Amino acid sequence: MKIDLSIVIPLLNEADSLTELSTWIKKVVQKTKLSYEIIFIDDGSDDMSWDVICKLQLQNENIKGISFRRNYGKSAALNIGFESAKGNVVITMDADLQDSPDEIPELYKMIVDEGYDIVSGWKKHRKDPLSKTIPTKLYNAVTRRVSGIKLNDMNCGLKAYKNEVVKNIEVYGEMHRYIPLIAKWAGFQNITEKVVKHQSRKFGVTKFGLERFVFGFLDLFSITFIGKFGKRPMHLFGTLGLIVSLLGFSFLIYIGIDKILLNKGSKLIANRTEFYVALSSIIIGVQFFLAGFLGEMLSRNSTSRNNYQIKEKLNLDD
Ligand code: UDP
Ligand code: MG
Repeated sequence: MKIDLSIVIPLLNEADSLTELSTWIKKVVQKTKLSYEIIFIDDGSDDMSWDVICKLQLQNENIKGISFRRNYGKSAALNIGFESAKGNVVITMDADLQDSPDEIPELYKMIVDEGYDIVSGWKKHRKDPLSKTIPTKLYNAVTRRVSGIKLNDMNCGLKAYKNEVVKNIEVYGEMHRYIPLIAKWAGFQNITEKVVKHQSRKFGVTKFGLERFVFGFLDLFSITFIGKFGKRPMHLFGTLGLIVSLLGFSFLIYIGIDKILLNKGSKLIANRTEFYVALSSIIIGVQFFLAGFLGEMLSRNSTSRNNYQIKEKLNLDD
């Protein structure tokens, strides 16, 4: 059965904030008269989080929960929450009370009335230490350039989605930082942002250290590569291979002509810099081609090679 709104909340060791969070959400959503569910995903907490969730469920039947046997990461938690969500609109938020439930009605309205696929929160006045906010600015600037999505705060935990978006994307590894980009590759282009309130952390500690920036950038490369060339790796590696080997061959021809026709008595070919440039370029070029062929074989054997996002069908049986 479909309902109006699912609120998906991944959490790791957030026992202290869960009661306040769920009471607050209930208060806000009840005013809107929407049917709703709150799905808590306990990502392998070793504090009392799961007990708190079970207790809250006894007081509010709209609360649902999934508990991982161990910690898999925020992406995994979101993914399984997306699979279970029944709401027409799905809203994700962090469990640490840094995101405000007061934003829920407006986010819901933007999806339903204004027809956006995704509305992403923008923590414009961010209540986090400088060590986090400054690198985040840089990270967002690079992501904007590489992805072409004009969001100021790609990785905000507070986001709203149309149901069909969350059912058609897969988040894994640490890819939760790039959900708008994943959705864009899946064909959902109508993405916008809304300035949201942000609180400093009241309880517990942040679960992500500075390594987030290194991993984040690596993930951005992977996601862009898979999105653009995942189904045709040879186009990338073959082009690189062609450029590099052509460079190598032109150097070879140059030294050849120079040795045989122009400066017959010149020094040994093996003593010339150009020779080494030519040699290494050809070797690297061949390696690019090999990577391309291997990539093609992998993608041809993949079971998802003919998976496409279908928006609608006309006059065709399923
Ligand atoms: N979280 C999670 N699994 C993890 C790490 C974090 O479910 O492995 C949850 C965490 O409990 C919180 C949300 O993801 O609800 C955001 O984490 P955090 O507040 O530590 O991130 P920050 O606000 O510092 O960016
Ligand atoms: Mg937080």
